[in-house]
Amino acid sequence: MIATADKFAQLPWQGATSALFGRVTRKCSRHGFRTADLDVVGDHKEADKHAKAGDLDAATTVDCLPRRPPDLIIQDELHLIAGPLGSLFGLYETAIDEIASWTVDGKPSRPKVVASTATIRRAEHQTYNLFCRRLAVFPPQVLDAGDSFFAVERPLDETPGRL
Ligand SMILES: [Zn+2]
Repeated sequence: MIATADKFAQLPWQGATSALFGRVTRKCSRHGFRTADLDVVGDHKEADKHAKAGDLDAATTVDCLPRRPPDLIIQDELHLIAGPLGSLFGLYETAIDEIASWTVDGKPSRPKVVASTATIRRAEHQTYNLFCRRLAVFPPQVLDAGDSFFAVERPLDETPGRL
């Protein structure tokens, strides 16, 4: 699932978006998972059975268990989510954190959030305000300028590089 922040604004208005978080109740063998909000679209009520039509086999709808919500949320361009947009986004993050959480052996499980940015300042403060979580910077800051975590400088006489 890939979405922009404005898609989150549809969560309270489009009940079908609850399926993105595994909150499904039934599955149609032709159309896939259904939620209570997917049973009626406009004036059309989704049928529980579909007759064979052309190449399509006959289909039925059966009850099913909820699915696991997303385990990983990747937030790109974190530095853009600040100021008034950050305040609004923080409200959605609280709701998304709740509907993407579930219980495993009696322990709450929340999705991991990985945020990327190239220009963040006060990252710990922003992360706490936005996600109410602690921050771990990856890769960690290096102590040696020749070791950037992604690459290590080596003397040319030891390793000649490209040949
Ligand atoms: Zn169907």
